[in-house]
Amino acid sequence: MKKNDNIDYISEITRLKKKKNAIILAHYYQTGEIQDIADFVGDSLALSQKAASNDADIILFAGVKFMAETAKILSPQKKVLLPDLNAGCSLADSCTAEDFKKFIAANPGRTVISYVNTNTDIKVLSDIVCTSSNAVQIIESLPVREKIIFAPDRNLGNYIVNKTGRDIAVWDGACHVHEEFSLEAILKLKEENTEAKVIVHPECELPVRMIADFIGSTSALLEFTRKDDSKSYIVATEPGIIHQMKKANPLKSYIAAPPKDSTCGCSECNFMKLVTIRKIYNCLRDEKPEILINRDVLLKAQKPIVRMMEISEKLGL
Ligand code: SF4
Repeated sequence: MKKNDNIDYISEITRLKKKKNAIILAHYYQTGEIQDIADFVGDSLALSQKAASNDADIILFAGVKFMAETAKILSPQKKVLLPDLNAGCSLADSCTAEDFKKFIAANPGRTVISYVNTNTDIKVLSDIVCTSSNAVQIIESLPVREKIIFAPDRNLGNYIVNKTGRDIAVWDGACHVHEEFSLEAILKLKEENTEAKVIVHPECELPVRMIADFIGSTSALLEFTRKDDSKSYIVATEPGIIHQMKKANPLKSYIAAPPKDSTCGCSECNFMKLVTIRKIYNCLRDEKPEILINRDVLLKAQKPIVRMMEISEKLGL
């Protein structure tokens, strides 16, 4: 890929990666072009595991800030780079430490489980971190009578309550991408594509989850389309994942579920899409912006993430 400044970004990124012993970790919600230059593509759980177990000197995270921070927390000795520090997350920002402390105080005696989609100061307040890939299993691994706080996603929280039947106080936050899928538009698509299966991320609202043929994390949705024998899917999560679905099964068709806002027509995460090939090149060349976290804060945030990884390993996830 050459841009008008005549830099062959893909070749340059490959050269810089080798020279600097750097790896690129990319989330499934990145563009296909970025996924294709990454050393590893995955969901939050797989990327956390990869960040903790590699021998690179530099990790460039093609994703959003909380993911790069998680990589830094798990690999403090490494330089962790994020191509655009404005790549935040509406879900993480829906839970501030100040308000979350009050919520914990109002619900005493509960184990605090936070979704990885939180800022570092929320992880510091948590007992265990989880992802959408392992949330149900982590909660089921705890004693039945244990009372829980779950934050920040109300839809995933509601899904977990229904799945596990546990006593869970759920924080009232949401992701602006997953809450935007239109039930009516999906039903209309389903009428036009009667063979298509509706596959849905648990961060979606209940009415959308209720019409799903399958509900799962991003990696579970990908795995489902790999193994399932349908020919067509309506995909209710960020459409970046469709790149991997097409690579795995190019003969199947994948329709991105439409958002409620019909003037927009797509359901891309604007934060994820702030990362571009050009920014990745600049970031790797200049080794900035870098993720820096105060050491005490980092060590406190590390505990609940390590606990998640230990439980996941024990459960074979
Ligand atoms: S899709 Fe939603 S949860 Fe994921 S990074 Fe974007 S805003 Fe955050």
